[in-house]
Amino acid sequence: SKDQWEIDPEELILGQEIGSGQFGLVLEGKWMDRKVAVKMVREDCMSNEEFKEEAMVMMRLSHCKLVQLYGVCTQRSPMCLVFEYMEGGCLSDYLREKKGHLPQDLMLGMCLDVSEGMAYLESSNFIHRDLAARNCLVAKNNEVKVSDFGMTRYVLDDQYTSSQGSKFPVKWSAPEVIKYSKFSSKSDVWSFGVLMWEIYNEGRLPYENRSNAEVVESLNAGMRLLKPRLAPDQVHMLMEWCWKEKPEDRPSFALLLHELAAFADL
Ligand code: ADP
Repeated sequence: SKDQWEIDPEELILGQEIGSGQFGLVLEGKWMDRKVAVKMVREDCMSNEEFKEEAMVMMRLSHCKLVQLYGVCTQRSPMCLVFEYMEGGCLSDYLREKKGHLPQDLMLGMCLDVSEGMAYLESSNFIHRDLAARNCLVAKNNEVKVSDFGMTRYVLDDQYTSSQGSKFPVKWSAPEVIKYSKFSSKSDVWSFGVLMWEIYNEGRLPYENRSNAEVVESLNAGMRLLKPRLAPDQVHMLMEWCWKEKPEDRPSFALLLHELAAFADL
């Protein structure tokens, strides 16, 4: 029922601004004695009615490697989404700050964390659609969790949602997504390969000096991102596996998790 995910505005204390995103401001806050992150959703940025339906599904997704959605406060305007608070902020900023001081086991651990969260989404038949370091968050203990899953479907900005749009994440997208908007867990796997590349390049942007059109052209010609200097061969092999042209030739997240865990145990 509705009240399972509705947060009483009386119980939600809003604090200072911690960031701003696709849907508007993000504030820190307190709910039921818990520190939370509150996303204020600007009406013109999100298809609210559709989202309210989906929020139910998203709240049932619960895993230690996913940033938990606690609930939605629809009685307040703007509507707000209440999430688990992540002390370390977003992964891409975190990597850039720690550049030069990221030990191998930490980088591998980050890949493992994300693969665990994604293996759970895969087994729940839920497609992320925008997996990238900027959409992962870091907890107190350096633990990484996957955030913003499925949210791109509610963005009202064409520049972001159309594969031809200027804000579309082409550099993280599988060829079949760019060509036919065919999203699947295997297109998430492609993005995960790029995310591992970001981790081992300490937060550098992929294809830094190239336009989206140039990237599409070089992918079509069979070219791929280069092996990061810090990446072990085994990890680079996994990246290349994620970037197979045909979705069916790519590994599942279950398999990636297994491979990364085996490597971490060596
Ligand atoms: P969107 O994905 O909607 O564009 P983000 O999720 O990137 O917006 O949020 C913007 C910023 O707010 C992030 O870069 C991060 O610094 C902060 N933020 C978002 N969610 C949380 C959270 N759960 N805990 C702590 N900080 C967060």
